Amino acid sequence: MEKYGIPQSLLPGKAYINGTWVSEKTGKTFKVLNPATGELLGEVPDLGAAETEEAIGVAYKTFQTWKETTAKERAKILRKWSELLMANQEHLAKILTLENGKPLTEGKGEIGFSASFFDWYAEEARRTYGDVVPTPAQNKRLVVIRQPVGVAGLITPWNFPAGMIARKVAAALAAGCTTVLKPAEDTPLSALAMAQLAEVAGVPAGVFNVIPCSRPNAASVGKTLCESPLVAKISFTGSSATGKLILKQAASTVKKVSMELGGNAPFIVFNSANVDAAVKGAILCKYRGSGQTCVSANRMLIQEGVYDEFCSKFAAEVKKFVVGDGMQEGVTQGPLINERGLEKVKRHVEDALQNGGKVLCGGKPHSLGRTFFEPTVISEVSNKAVVLQEETFGPLAALVKFNTEAEAIAIANNCRHGLAGYFYSQDISQAWRVAEQMEVGMVGINEGLISMDVIPFGGVKESGLGREGSKYGLDDYMEMKYICFGGI
Ligand code: ADP
Repeated sequence: MEKYGIPQSLLPGKAYINGTWVSEKTGKTFKVLNPATGELLGEVPDLGAAETEEAIGVAYKTFQTWKETTAKERAKILRKWSELLMANQEHLAKILTLENGKPLTEGKGEIGFSASFFDWYAEEARRTYGDVVPTPAQNKRLVVIRQPVGVAGLITPWNFPAGMIARKVAAALAAGCTTVLKPAEDTPLSALAMAQLAEVAGVPAGVFNVIPCSRPNAASVGKTLCESPLVAKISFTGSSATGKLILKQAASTVKKVSMELGGNAPFIVFNSANVDAAVKGAILCKYRGSGQTCVSANRMLIQEGVYDEFCSKFAAEVKKFVVGDGMQEGVTQGPLINERGLEKVKRHVEDALQNGGKVLCGGKPHSLGRTFFEPTVISEVSNKAVVLQEETFGPLAALVKFNTEAEAIAIANNCRHGLAGYFYSQDISQAWRVAEQMEVGMVGINEGLISMDVIPFGGVKESGLGREGSKYGLDDYMEMKYICFGGI
């Protein structure tokens, strides 16, 4: 990593428990690879259940003092952490791009996005108001206060190696919780760099603990977090399959749970749309992170009146993409995270073609090899295609033609997921109607990028539970306590 000019201090290469950099007891490690080149970036301790128990114990003990700090004190630390992220934006972006593959400009953007959560929650920490309830009994007075839940176990994915951590940790710490984080095995380096900056920012030892582990150890680390009576809350972002398992495990100790799972977002372009704006929005929404975001457009439904125009303009834009190693100047599309990701895109493309699809561009693994797939647009895809049912998580846009608004809504809602949904329309009545009817947690109208610190991010149906970011995000880390003063 030296050749990239990243300071060694941001690459601790160890786990972080109780403010100390630690190794696995027998020295077991796992490898972190660059998805673009296969290059070995580093080795990280491969922790298991024992170290997880230890980190939980530390977090539980630290909670007893951290919860007593004032919101103002916590805000100061969070703000400092935010400033440090921005001061190290270039280096952190490189770490992120090297382990995730996204273009460096997107990596920089993600560090800014991450810093914004620390900044936002530094402010929100001081607004965890309670309530005074008008009393129905003369001799009683009724109050509601809000308190931190306790230790929060956090499990994060690889597609936003810093952003998903920031969104959880900033809210947890603002609320007064302590945390044990298990970052994704593909991208633990960003998590450890963030821990290093947490230390500099003055986050007390034991408040933020990071336990990296390999994929084979994820199940036991996850189970330990879910079943420990000392952990009060689990926040998970990842696949629906893993989320459902975690939800079951967390039931054993009746934990508060937040889940941000798969999306399979509909992206609808109505006849009333400004087609150029829709093309621009669709490009960002579909291909950011090579389509590997849970809010990526997955089911692209285009009304017949604008179908041909949209298809040709959209495909023309996709053809301009520059595919390559995200560290190289000018690259707009990086690789998939691993071969498993590539196989899924391949399967969806083959299936779309068997279901009547016509390739407008791309359609096969990229000549760069391994994890690279050509940015792909397929038109005339039928409703039966698997891409209409399953999230692709890759650079495939499958364009489905529809006739009526009711038909588009029926297709959009015929899905077990409901995270984000998008549509383009210049008709204000239609905008209200469709936004209200979409079975999703978030709607973008004439906009393809909707995620930010101040909004409640989350879904309905099998896309999850709870909300992250915004003033509502704090609720997931706090309990209400009702206090009745009698004998007044
Ligand atoms: P993906 O298949 O894209 O990696 P996952 O949902 O499996 O999506 O991964 C998201 C996070 O969940 C990662 O940190 C991963 O290590 C973790 N994870 C995977 N399996 C388990 C499990 N059985 N228990 C807890 N965490 C898990």
